[in-house]
Amino acid sequence: MVKIHNFGAGPAKLPEEVYEIIKNELTNFDGSGISLLETSHRTATYKNLNTEIQNVVRRLLNVPANYKIIFLSGGGQGQFAGVPLNLISRTGTADYVVTGAWSAKAAKEAKKYGKVNLVLPPTDRYTEVPDQSKWNLDPNASYVHICTNETIHGVEFDFIPDTKGVPLVADMSSNFMSKKIDVSKFGVIYGGAQKNIGTAGVALVIIREDLLNHALPICPSILDWTVNYKADSILNTPPMFAIYIMGRVLQWIERQGGLDAMEAAATKKSSLIYDIIDQSNGFYYAPVAKNVRSKMNIPFRIGSATGNDELEKEFLKGAEALGLIQLKGHRDVGGIRASTYNAVTLQEVQALAVYMKDFLKKHAK
Ligand SMILES: *Cc1c(COP(=O)(O)O)cnc(C)c1O
Repeated sequence: MVKIHNFGAGPAKLPEEVYEIIKNELTNFDGSGISLLETSHRTATYKNLNTEIQNVVRRLLNVPANYKIIFLSGGGQGQFAGVPLNLISRTGTADYVVTGAWSAKAAKEAKKYGKVNLVLPPTDRYTEVPDQSKWNLDPNASYVHICTNETIHGVEFDFIPDTKGVPLVADMSSNFMSKKIDVSKFGVIYGGAQKNIGTAGVALVIIREDLLNHALPICPSILDWTVNYKADSILNTPPMFAIYIMGRVLQWIERQGGLDAMEAAATKKSSLIYDIIDQSNGFYYAPVAKNVRSKMNIPFRIGSATGNDELEKEFLKGAEALGLIQLKGHRDVGGIRASTYNAVTLQEVQALAVYMKDFLKKHAK
């Protein structure tokens, strides 16, 4: 069988080394004689693991002491509800910066719980992050929500917005732990694990402590940050195995050299693909403005700016034959999307690059 290189957007590739660790630990976790899969979340074994993973998050992101770290069920979208349920009571209104499909979804969910102000004019073509001078921020907002990396559209923030003291809330589902960030610039950071730091089912949430205790009375306990923080993320049975895998991925990141190493690799990998696109004389076309091109998800078209169905199908078919899989663009945007998350190696991206060059040579006029 041909070796598989998975460029899927999520659930995405996990580091090979982490699979080895999971295999070794699967039926006898931490010397307990049983699997973590059948261990009570009330045991010392799980409590130790829970603490260990919080500590690695704290080290990697240099999380300041006044920020709390919790693990919640429901993934990224759970927090689309969790954010307004926990924060919008402050003023009843929230600002949403919509730069792609995910932030649009977050804004739609928030409308159930309060007033949502769209900071940018509506569009269905997400290719940029407009300059902050064009943002219509409401000084009375409870928070400003952004998505730092739009997984579907490939738009990644290249700056941290200045929200004039209004807490900044960021969905980092698809670029969590891909580079260093200044946590102190954010009120809340959250993300589902299955893109860059693990597998589906868990959201990692980092909250500045003064933003606790604002939940709406209707907020379900399992989404209430304060309740879950006080329960040390074992209010109910947490998605323990997903949390464990996230922990092993984060420890793997540390062993690779931490977030500086992840960022350097992401820059190298994504440039390899963007350079081929830019040097293809329009054969490959990347729609996103250069300054906000994502280093994690690279959407592009083949043949023209709107794509050529036949060529794109042929590209995907040829790629698959070489083991380069899950390259089909999201159905909302079509075309091709290569996700180059932390676990995707430089060698794998090089294999894709070689294929792209060959395909170009074969088809370019
Ligand atoms: C995938 C994704 C989500 C949704 O995550 P789920 O865990 O499937 O709910 C939210 N935001 C972004 C940016 C994503 O990429």
